Amino acid sequence: MFEINIGNRSGINTKPIIIKVSKVGCWECVSHKCNDSGYIIVQYKGKGARLHRVLYEKYVSEISAENPFILHRCDNPKCCNPKHLMAGTQADNIKDMVSKNRQAKGLLKHNSKLGPVNIIKIRQLYKEGLTQERISKLFGVNQSRVSRIVNKKTWKHIN
Ligand SMILES: [Zn+2]
Repeated sequence: MFEINIGNRSGINTKPIIIKVSKVGCWECVSHKCNDSGYIIVQYKGKGARLHRVLYEKYVSEISAENPFILHRCDNPKCCNPKHLMAGTQADNIKDMVSKNRQAKGLLKHNSKLGPVNIIKIRQLYKEGLTQERISKLFGVNQSRVSRIVNKKTWKHIN
């Protein structure tokens, strides 16, 4: 176990970030809670931020507009070991998600909350030709909900 200081300038959350290293080398944060998608959320620069992104910026490089998604090579959303992370495009992110079928495996199946990231993914998958039915299975929500999302009846503010 070790502690990371992410240099929180806002001073809102000074709770130390405690990392436990798993057998396969994943850095799992044991001091902070994760959100519905399984990502650890910390206060950073006055806002809630996903810890793996914060650490990627701290140890690897700034996150660019060309490759704005930070993907896990280890398929462990909780992990924030910079060596297990890589930057990718939205298409990479979706490919990664579909190939690992992470959503179907678990988190959303028992939780009907869809965040903005998932809304973007749903619309992208639909554009790429997946049926609403397939998408609904992938995300564990019913098809009418997918229909409302792709037709922008809900989540209108997300593009
Ligand atoms: Zn890992």
